[in-house]
Amino acid sequence: MKDQCVSVWILGDQLLRNHPALVQATKTVGIKHIQVVLIESDGRIAQQPYHRKKLVLLLSAMRHYAAALHEQGYQVDYVHAADFLVGLRQHIETHQPTRIMTMAASEYHTRRFQEAGLADGLGLPVDVLPNTQFLVGRFDPHPEPKPGKRYVMENFYRAMRRYFDVLMDGDKPAGGEWNYDKHNREPLPKHIEQPTIPAYSSDAITQEVIQQVASYEHATGTLENFNLAVTHEQAQQALTDFIEQRLHDFGPYEDAMSTRHPTLFHSVLSPYINIGLLEPLEMVQAAVEAYEQDQAPINSVEGFVRQVLGWREYIYWQYWQQMPDLYKANDWNATRPLPQMFWDGQTEMNCIKHVVSRAIETGYNHHIERLMIICNFCMLAGINPQQVNDWFLAFYIDAYDWVMQPNVIGMGLNADGGRIATKPYISSANYINKMSNYCGGCRFKHKQRVGEEACPFNFLYWHFLITHEKKLRANPRFGPSILGVGRIDSTEREAIQRQSEHFLAKLEYYKTTSE
Ligand code: FAD
Ligand code: SF4
Repeated sequence: MKDQCVSVWILGDQLLRNHPALVQATKTVGIKHIQVVLIESDGRIAQQPYHRKKLVLLLSAMRHYAAALHEQGYQVDYVHAADFLVGLRQHIETHQPTRIMTMAASEYHTRRFQEAGLADGLGLPVDVLPNTQFLVGRFDPHPEPKPGKRYVMENFYRAMRRYFDVLMDGDKPAGGEWNYDKHNREPLPKHIEQPTIPAYSSDAITQEVIQQVASYEHATGTLENFNLAVTHEQAQQALTDFIEQRLHDFGPYEDAMSTRHPTLFHSVLSPYINIGLLEPLEMVQAAVEAYEQDQAPINSVEGFVRQVLGWREYIYWQYWQQMPDLYKANDWNATRPLPQMFWDGQTEMNCIKHVVSRAIETGYNHHIERLMIICNFCMLAGINPQQVNDWFLAFYIDAYDWVMQPNVIGMGLNADGGRIATKPYISSANYINKMSNYCGGCRFKHKQRVGEEACPFNFLYWHFLITHEKKLRANPRFGPSILGVGRIDSTEREAIQRQSEHFLAKLEYYKTTSE
């Protein structure tokens, strides 16, 4: 193969230190015969009104990655083009490679593009190597799933723990238990010291990208105070900072929400792992090491490992089990459009106002805010799943198709027939009040079910249970929660239904910003 000239096409969310196509090409033809191609696609950037900070993160990280490869001696062709195909053709015309090597995309449409007809379209052989950004690619804990059959996260996670020998004492889980949830899920104490997260200043490359992104009219969110990591070294430092400063209290407060602090003890590492600046095993190993050195308790370490080795891998695995059906999944026949308050945070509902405003400002909400505020509301209000999905895709700095579809359509909205979450994650204001301080500053009363001051999460929750009573009763995991419906007399039932219908009808008439 020495006479070959190989082009290695690296996607913007595949900025791995050891990109497999680059490793293989280096071994087979040698560094001098490799052209690395990275493509900034206008079509991809314009696909959604993406958060401006996400665009800066992605484009700046790509340019830093290209510069780092160049320093290592690679020839790098950084292409601006209308789309990937045009960019690849442009590259081929200039550099005349004899073959293309790339790694399978994490998401459905780009992978189909790579695998179906790209070689013919380019008139060159294209090698699509297996994706190495997920551990489930090395070991499949459920290799022969039966169509329509559930495979729950807990079984998946235990199989992963065993296979990768993470937090194991021989055959047994470290500390004696697989799950420490009962030690976690605490609300935030009033006087706890708020942790800080590291901030990275913008160098010349990032500043240039910020200027470019400032000119995108279709984008959403604010650009101000961009301070994310854009290199491997910075992302590595962000990981170390989390392990040293926040992992210790990660477990107890992982479900807490607060107006006082947006990120609490969360790692805020998803933007980096999702584009290859960090890798799952290094995150898991760093946490396990902290446990072994007595720097963090088992409930926090197991809680974090569960997120990365369990949930993240399970979500990716489910994505590929369920695609492309997830795109049209709508098991609860939810058809209502997304209300305007999700775009501007203008609402009297204090929880939604806080969470959406933070998303606009930072592109980040933690897990419970995404699940129990945003999705909970959308599920109770019967908002169309793909509209919710598109909103998530636009607003979050860590959002990509493989992670959005199963989390939003499956976990958040239970629209996939319960394949990911065996019951809908819905709650009234009671849960939100227990886990946050949002209700204290709200004009609605979190204890009131109907009436002028009743919290919308309350009447919508009961409206949902009443409307879907039959279906919910049939779900053994939801069964007990539905019993309360039987205790509501007919007058209150009618009042709940009336108030909900009125509220929902009014929601649809929120004006868009362009009106
Ligand atoms: P931490 O709480 O510190 O967790 C550690 C890591 O675990 C995360 O960085 C992430 O890599 C991983 N993780 C945990 N749960 C999940 C999960 N369910 N799916 C995938 N990875 C997980 N995560 C995204 O990366 N991008 C998204 O667009 C996204 N959208 C979501 C939408 C909904 C409706 C829900 C319920 C969850 C979503 N998640 C998404 C999962 C999770 O909320 C985020 O990964 C997490 O909030 C990121 O913040 P963190 O890095 O501080 O996470
Ligand atoms: Fe949200 Fe209701 Fe609490 Fe207000 S009272 S913050 S709307 S849960």
